[in-house]
Order: sequence, then structure tokens, then C-alpha cells
Amino acid sequence: PRPMEELLSALEDTAENRRTIDVKDAIIHWFKMDLRCNDNRALALASEKAKEAGVPLICMYIVSPQDFEAHLRAPIRVDFILRTLEVLKADLAALDIPLYVETVEKRKHIPDRILELMEQWGSRHLFANMEYEVDELRREATMVRDLSENGKSFEVVHDTCVVPPGQLQSGSGNQYAVYTPWYRSWVAHIHANLDLLELFEPPNKNPSSAKKQYKDLFDCPIPDAPPNKQLGKKEKERSHSVWPAGEHAASDRLDKFCDEKIGSYSSQRNIPSDDGTSCLSVHLASGTISSRTCVRTARDRNKTKRLDGGNEGIRVWISEVAWRDFYKHVLVHWPYVCMNKPFKPEYSNISWSYDEDHFKAWCEGRTGFPIVDAAMRQLKYLGYMHNRCRMIVASFLSKDLLLDWRKGERYFMENLIDGDFASNNGGWGFSASVGVDPQPYFRIFNPLLQSEKFDPDGDYIRKWVPELKALNNTEIHDPYGRGAGNKVKKTGYPQPIVNHKDCRDRALSAYKDGIASG
Ligand code: FAD
Repeated sequence: PRPMEELLSALEDTAENRRTIDVKDAIIHWFKMDLRCNDNRALALASEKAKEAGVPLICMYIVSPQDFEAHLRAPIRVDFILRTLEVLKADLAALDIPLYVETVEKRKHIPDRILELMEQWGSRHLFANMEYEVDELRREATMVRDLSENGKSFEVVHDTCVVPPGQLQSGSGNQYAVYTPWYRSWVAHIHANLDLLELFEPPNKNPSSAKKQYKDLFDCPIPDAPPNKQLGKKEKERSHSVWPAGEHAASDRLDKFCDEKIGSYSSQRNIPSDDGTSCLSVHLASGTISSRTCVRTARDRNKTKRLDGGNEGIRVWISEVAWRDFYKHVLVHWPYVCMNKPFKPEYSNISWSYDEDHFKAWCEGRTGFPIVDAAMRQLKYLGYMHNRCRMIVASFLSKDLLLDWRKGERYFMENLIDGDFASNNGGWGFSASVGVDPQPYFRIFNPLLQSEKFDPDGDYIRKWVPELKALNNTEIHDPYGRGAGNKVKKTGYPQPIVNHKDCRDRALSAYKDGIASG
């Protein structure tokens, strides 16, 4: 069976057991990438159960250094999560709920450690929200069965997507492999099931005795980042001021975006020098805000109270949040796409280049293509890159440089504060034309045209590539090609490392040959 079916079947098999187990001591909520109190489905269920039984709720977050090599690769992301845990711990403490945080050496030890903690706390009920990566789904399926054999229950529920994976099928009964019909069906499904946008209340206050009973858990500190994931002092200060952590920061950002920007989102969202998008991705990726809350809040600002009509900015923004659901559905249905494989097998045989100098120039923002360099420097500095630029640099890496897209995908995860396995893989698959519903391989972005179209006055380039500050609005997009070579040579700005036209021809043949032999 597929991993999600395996988990659902484990849940079904043990449903009776879950109903009949007595609640003795505490109920536990296991936080993963759902680091918030509000609108958190599993947390709300756990809290209700605790209230009904008159027992305390304990929250825990367990992490292994191996997580830092898998999903949480970027130091800036690790720092954000640790800061978020501080906020969460304080919010829960105000409700007399402890948040216990522990680091275990290996990921595979987590289930046993949880069982031990449950024994220690005398708890028989564990709650968590579902994560859709294969390893997590399989681990949770095993845990549901193992805990059941030990007289305990584990309730795992859908939460992170607005529409859970598995709900939308095409007319022929299959998972959609194309976004547009999938999106139509996503909207229709929500309109027919408005409870999908239900708001889950924050947890109830614990009985006051919990403070004494679980004193050690209240006192447990949030660990430091491992040495290889620590931010420098300056980076830390910058990240803390640009990316305030925790769910209050997330909801403030959503409100501000809906008050000030959402109306003009459809016209501004492609202009990287403009602050026209929500910058909520870090919060959605860490679970400091729920996608339900995002969609519900935006919809409620729409006079029509619909997802697919009325204000154009609101409609388009909701359709972007839907992409996040789309890629999680893809992850569940075709898990192999996130295991370094192209969606269509015939794309496996493209002869990628492994030119390390080119890769280094791309990473460092020194390709001689100003828009690419500006974007890569934005990523390095802020841990974030505008969506339009993500597409430009991903296309440049995979088509102009013909470098293996998986190297770019990995580099993004190592640097993004919003690194999300499914969305990142989806974005790379789209741009490198190897994913589900990709850009056709023969559509190759011309970096110069992209630059002129989306950064017409060169404001974004000037901000991130100060060497080009003095150039006029024409020169700035292609300094060496537009007679400004002497001016920029002095600044040390590099010549283009490749010729776009030649690269375009090379990419077209490489894709064609690869597909033909695949
Ligand atoms: P907004 O425009 O305000 O959109 C709102 C939310 O919708 C975003 O926060 C995000 O959660 C979701 N969203 C928007 N566009 C997309 C999209 N194309 N795919 C999936 N979700 C989307 N997004 C990530 O969250 N994590 C990643 O690791 C990531 N890697 C990417 C890699 C590439 C090569 C590409 C092309 C895109 C990637 N994206 C990723 C998608 C998108 O670029 C970011 O979500 C967006 O730039 C975040 O800015 P925002 O919050 O202001 O977005």
C-alpha cells in the first residue's frame, strides 16, 4: 500500500482500541511542523479529550540532529524553529500547559522515546497532525500499531492542507496531474464542505495542579542549534528583525497583508522589488499559521465570500496558497518525485553537467546575469527569495547551465527559511521541466527578458548587486552587452559565465536526446 493508505489503515484497525482506552493521566500532543496553539486540529482534539476526562494536557516536541540534515537543513530555518518554540512554550505556559522539548540522537529512536515518555507520564493517549513525507507516514503507521499493542492510542489527523490529500479525483477517478483542473476541483470541494475552513480553538487551560505535577517539564529548556547549524551574530540579529517568530507574528503579518496588499496582489506579485506578496511562507512551512486560517481570512475580506470570484487580488492569492496543497497532494500520490526522480521516467536520461565552477558562481550570485545574481544574493542574505526569481534562477541553473536540478533543490533547502520539501521539490520540478505539471522543456526563460519585464527600473538588481548601482535602467540588465563594460569592470562584477543563446540550443538538444533515449 501507499504510505498514507498504510497509516489510514493502521488508524482504522486501532479505532476501537482508541475509543475504549481509559483516560488515566495526561493526554499528549506531539508538535511537529504545526507550531501554534490556534487553529491546530490535533491540539484542539487533544485538549477537548483532556478537558472531558479532567486530566492535564502535555505538549512535546522531539527533534533529532538527523532532522537537521533532512528537512531542517538551513541554519536560518533551525533558528526560526527554535525561536518559535520559545514563543510556543510561553503561550502554553500561560495556560498551565508544559511544552517538553527533547533532542534524541537518531530519528529512528523517536518512537521508542515517545513510548518511554508516555509510560513515565502515565499517559495513554497521543495526538499529532499528519505529515505527508513517506518516512513520516510509515513511522506513524508503525507507531499507531505499536502503541495500540501497548494499550495506548495514537490519533493522527489531517491538518496542514486545506483539502486533505486523497479527496480530489479527476473524472476518471485518478489524482490530477495538472494544476488547473485540480484547482477547480479544490475550490468546488471547499465550497461544498465549508467545515474544511473551520477554526479550531486554542487549548483549554490545564488544571492548576498540572504546574506542580509537571514542574520539570515546565522547566525544561529549548536546546541550542547544533554547532553546524548556528547563525553568526549579525545573521542572527538580521533574521530576528526581518523574521519575527511565532504565531502572533504570523497572524499580524496575515492581517497586515490583507489590510494593505492583498487587493493589489494580482498586479504586484511578480515584481520582486515590490513588497507585494505576503511573506507568509516561513509561517506556513513551520505551522505558525494554518492554511485554513489564511484562506478563511482572505475569503472573509472578499465581498462575494467565495474563493474563486470577487476581488481579483484575493482570488489569485488564495489560488497561490492552493499550490501548497497541490504539491502536498503530489507528494502523497507520487512520493518518488521527492526521492530525486523525475515525474516522467523518460526525463531520467538527460545528461546533466556537473561543472562545479558554474555551480559555485550560481550559488554566490556571480554569474554575470544581474537578475540571477540579485536573486541568489537575496537568498544568501535573507534566507528568502521572491517567487518570480526562484523560477528565474531555477530555470537558469537547469537550462542555461544544464546543471542537475537536484543540486539547486538541495541548495535551496540548505538556505531557505521557508524550505518546504513538497513546495521546493514542486518548484524545482516545474522550472526544470521534470516535475508534475511542469513548464514545457522547450520554454526556456531568457534571463534578460525576465529582468526587463519584472524589474524594469532595475530596482531589485540595484538593491542586491551594489556593483551595478550606477548603471542606467537599460545597462543594468546586461552591463557588458550594453556598453557599460568599462564601468562595471572596475567594480569587479563578472562577465556572463555563459552565452544564453548557445545554452538554449544546448539545453533543447540535451532534453530532446534525453527524452528520446529514456
Ligand atoms: P505569496 O505569494 O504571498 O503566497 C502565499 C503562500 O502560498 C506562500 O506563502 C506559499 O505557502 C504558497 N505558495 C505560493 N506560491 C507557491 C508555489 N508556487 N508553490 C507552493 N506554494 C506556494 N515555497 C515554500 O514555501 N517553500 C519552498 O521551499 C519553496 N521552494 C520553491 C522553489 C522554487 C524553485 C520555486 C519556483 C518556488 C518555491 N516555493 C517554495 C514557492 C514560492 O516561491 C514561495 O512559496 C513564495 O515565494 C513565498 O513567498 P510569499 O509567502 O510571499 O508568497
